[in-house]
Parts: sequence; C-alpha cells; structure tokens
Amino acid sequence: MEDLPGIVITGASGRMGQMLINTVVDSDKAKLVGAVEREGHAWVGQDVGVAMGGAALGVTVTDKPLEAFAKAQAVIDFTAPAATIEFSKLAAQARAVHVIGTTGMTDDEIAQLEPASYHAVIVRAGNMSLGVNLLTQLTKKVAAALDEDFDIEVIEAHHHHKVDAPSGTALMLGEAAAEGRGVNLADVRDSGRDGITGARKRGDIGFTAIRGGDIVGEHDVLFAAAGERIVLRHLATDRAIFARGALKAALWGQDKMPGQYDMVDVLGL
Ligand code: NAP
Repeated sequence: MEDLPGIVITGASGRMGQMLINTVVDSDKAKLVGAVEREGHAWVGQDVGVAMGGAALGVTVTDKPLEAFAKAQAVIDFTAPAATIEFSKLAAQARAVHVIGTTGMTDDEIAQLEPASYHAVIVRAGNMSLGVNLLTQLTKKVAAALDEDFDIEVIEAHHHHKVDAPSGTALMLGEAAAEGRGVNLADVRDSGRDGITGARKRGDIGFTAIRGGDIVGEHDVLFAAAGERIVLRHLATDRAIFARGALKAALWGQDKMPGQYDMVDVLGL
C-alpha cells in the first residue's frame, strides 16, 4: 500500500471530484493522499469520505493545494480554467503528474499551461474515456476518406449544469475531423447558428449543443451528403468512464518525461 502512487483530487466536492475519489479509493494501483477544495468551502477541514456522506477515508479536505501536491505523485483536476492554471504551476513545483479534465479553456488559457510542462508531465483531454478517444481516431479516418461533398456536423448533448459549449469532447471530435481533412478547425468552425444564418458554407464543420436533465454526455459526428449519411456516435451513461481514464493517465504519466500529452498517448491509439 505504501508504495502505491499517491493521488490528490482537486474540486473534491464536484460531480467528477466525488467520482474520482471513489475511483481512486476502489483502485488497487493508487492511493488517495489528498482532497482539495477552495478557501471557504464547507468541506474544508472535514474527512472527505464523511463529507461525501459515507465512511471516513482518513483524508482531510484542504484549501492548501501546494501542501497536498507535495505529498502526491499525481493530481487529478476536473475544476475550472482559472483554477487549473494555478494548479498546473503548483503541480509542477511538486513535480507531480497533472491530469487535466477541465474543459472550456481558451487558447490563451491552454498556452498558460506551457511553463509547467517544462518541469512536469501534463495529460490533458476534453474527454478521458477510451470510447471517445477511439471515436476521434475513427472521425479522423472517415474525414480523410471523404471530400467536402460530405458536410460534417458535431452534435452533442449534456446535463443542464454544464457551463461551456460546445463540449470539450465535441471540440476534440471537430479537431479530429479537421485534421483528417487537412484544415484548421479555427478556419471552418461554425458554432451557435441562430436567425438568418445564410446557407451552410461548403467545408465548414458545424457544432450543435443540446442541454437538458442529467445527460452524462452524448456525441454524434455526422457526415451528410446528397443521398446518404454516416453517423459516428458515442453515448456515455456513467461518469466513471472519465474517472477511470483519468486514473489510468495519472499512472501512465509516472515514468514519462516532462511535457504535454493527451489520452491518445495514454491509450496508445
Ligand atoms: P462541478 O460539479 O461544477 O465541479 C467543479 C468543481 O471544481 C467544484 O468542486 C468546484 O468548487 C471546483 N472549482 C471550480 N472553480 C474552482 C476554483 N477556482 N478553485 C478551486 N476549485 C474550483 O463540475 P463537473 O461536472 O465535476 O465538471 C468539472 C469539469 O470537468 C468541467 O470543466 C467539465 O466539463 C469537465 N469534465 C471533463 C471530462 C473529461 O473526460 N475530460 C468529463 C466530465 C467533466 P465549488 O463548488 O466551490 O465551485
């Protein structure tokens, strides 16, 4: 037990935070050594298991991330962009692997992770599941095989609490389609149609976001031409798939050189 890599979970009270804590506690390959919440949060100072409504886990929720990271081999972070940037600096100081599941980061925010990646391993992915990462590879292949007679649309659905759109996964799939076509997503991205938009531009990659209820995450990549359509689809029914992927990334990163990686690297796809 003592030799197992120690993991800290940030945003411990969040939907993914709690799922990650349960996943690490249930694993025989890692141990939970810390749980971080922001200053003033009601959970700070409590045993994280008790705060989650279960048995004590012997880990007290702290609002001092660096102290927690210093005792860990990896930090798993599904929070918010501003918090993730701060955590990347602290994880690098602690030389801990930083697994980032946070989505909705702008290009400028992503660029701010770079200095940390000179000192520590960062694994970042908008979706940590095996199925979606496989779907990105399939999307790239299909997009490369078809020409612009096929309009590409990414359609995603998530629960009504989600704050960013399109989802990180939808953007991953859009990037994969653009890569397959040999174009930059930024040049062909068409999000948030509303009103008199004009006809669809040939070669664009469109995005549609549905928000409702407790949907965990659904993604379709539609290739639509005259007379036929191909739909690649992933349905997530349990957040545990993201938590298991994140833990896998934390373990994979232990013997890697500092740098930025994604789940395609972790899964060897
Ligand atoms: P959530 O339930 O709102 O949890 C977010 C957690 O982060 C909360 O505990 C929140 O604390 C904490 N947090 C937010 N801002 C913070 C800050 N500035 N400093 C410290 N802690 C902060 O959200 P969720 O559904 O778990 O999702 C979290 C993130 O993971 C989102 O970006 C989501 O899109 C992403 N996600 C990624 C994947 C993937 O596979 N990559 C899968 C699912 C979700 P407070 O309660 O105090 O605000």
